[in-house]
Order: sequence, then structure tokens, then C-alpha cells
Amino acid sequence: MQQTIAKELEIEGVGLHSGIKSILKLKPAKINTGIVFVRTDLNGAKPISATYDNVIDTKNCTCIGYDKSNMVSTIEHLMSALYIMQIDNVIVEVSAPEMPIIDGSAQTFLQKMQEIGVTKQNTPRKYVKVLKKVDVADDKGNAISLEPSDDFHINFVIEFPSKIVGRQEFDGIIDQEIFVKEIAPCRTFCEKYQVDYLRSIGLIKGGSLENGVVLDGDTILNPGGFKVKNECVNHKVLDAIGDMYTAGCSVLGKLTANKTGHYHNNLILKTLFADKTNYQIIEKE
Ligand SMILES: [Zn+2]
Repeated sequence: MQQTIAKELEIEGVGLHSGIKSILKLKPAKINTGIVFVRTDLNGAKPISATYDNVIDTKNCTCIGYDKSNMVSTIEHLMSALYIMQIDNVIVEVSAPEMPIIDGSAQTFLQKMQEIGVTKQNTPRKYVKVLKKVDVADDKGNAISLEPSDDFHINFVIEFPSKIVGRQEFDGIIDQEIFVKEIAPCRTFCEKYQVDYLRSIGLIKGGSLENGVVLDGDTILNPGGFKVKNECVNHKVLDAIGDMYTAGCSVLGKLTANKTGHYHNNLILKTLFADKTNYQIIEKE
């Protein structure tokens, strides 16, 4: 059955790039509402459905909206937690253009939702079942595909020059147990030179070692080190789960990704939905 959150929930933090305080209010919503974001700092802003066709920017994060004046960036970590909680309908009110980054993972979103629980609604859930393999590759060897599978399965490979990361691979069916243990705590990561550059152009004003992993050559600058084995690739899996949930419902298919990011996650959904023979929307209780 479709589900929404059991009651209202508030989470606050700062945006990673803007450094602006951002307050989130998650509100229960009616059947077939979907995941809908609303900017409460704008007067009467048109609500934005968190669907792949509303994605307007994929640089460093997934950003949905209509234009620069009405958009919300970095939705993917919350989307990932909503996916695993099987929440179909929710209104996400946000007081800033950017979601709170918190520790750069999905942990807080997941915990808060687990604490309040979900309400079952009186209509079957929808799923998008992949019927035919679709794939996209670019000239740099980055490749992504979706193919038929009875579960939501992800195979993700990353390769970084830093020896502390190197080649990492995740392969498995995405279920609640693996998500809670191995994916939700995985933080976003970047290299120190990227931090220095982004700061120089006025970004990551809210960024610190508190809200992500920073790599400097072959070392990690965070005093506690990594929280989870293969934290970097598992964070990419966290992002991919959130991005795939912009399909508008859960995907039944296998995602295979090699060195890709938000741009490719969005592109593979656009490719899937471009041809009606690639997929089928099914209802399951
Ligand atoms: Zn991320």
C-alpha cells in the first residue's frame, strides 16, 4: 500500500554551498501526491514534484525546479531515505534554495522518519518495471544502464587516483537492512583542491569536515577517518537511490554504473521514459 509519514517532522541545518540556514518540514500527504517540494521563503511558490523531468541542474547535486528563482538543490539524500522508508506521498517544505546538508549522509533523515513512523494509505503502490535494457555512455568511459530485474539492484564502480579510495565496488539488492548498515551513514566526499576552488568562487560556505569527507591526496582529513568500509562508493549508491526515486515511484530494475554521477542518473531515467516500450507502470500491494 502507498504510505506517508505518520505526522509532521522538522529538520534543520545549513546548505552546503550557500551556508544559509535551511529548515525542512515534512508533512503527511494524500494518496497519489508523490514527493512534492515547496519553498516557504517565497511568496506562493508553485510546488515542485521531485520527478526526473523537473531536474534542472546536476552539477555537484540534484536540483529540481522551474528556474533559478524557484528551485531546491541537493534533494538526493532525503530522496534516498524516503525511498527506503517506502514513502510515496509527502510535502517537503523548505525555507531556503538548498536542503540542509547535516553530516553529508542520509542518516538524520532516516532516523527522524524511523522515529515517527509511516501511515499506510488505502491504495496500491506504483512501481516502474524496466522491460528493456537502456544504456548511456560518454567518451570518457563513464557508463550507466538500467535492465530488467525483479528487485532494485545496484552495481556501482568508482575509481579515484587517491590510494585511500582507489577502485571501490558495490553490488547488491537495495533492501532496508543493507541501507541502514552500509549506505545511510556514508557521507558525501570531495578532494581538498576542490574545496579550495569552490570556496574561491563563493561556494561551500556551509562546508566543513562536519558535513563531508575531504580527501587530500592519499589521506583523509577527517580526524575520525571513514565511518563505513567503501564509504565513497556507498555514498554514490546513496545518491543513485535518491536520484532513481525521481522516477516518480520505485524502480524494479538493475542499475549498473561505472564512474557516473547525478547527470547520468537523470539521463538514464530520461532515456528509459523516452520510449514507452522500455517500461511498464505496475501496481503492487
Ligand atoms: Zn550525495
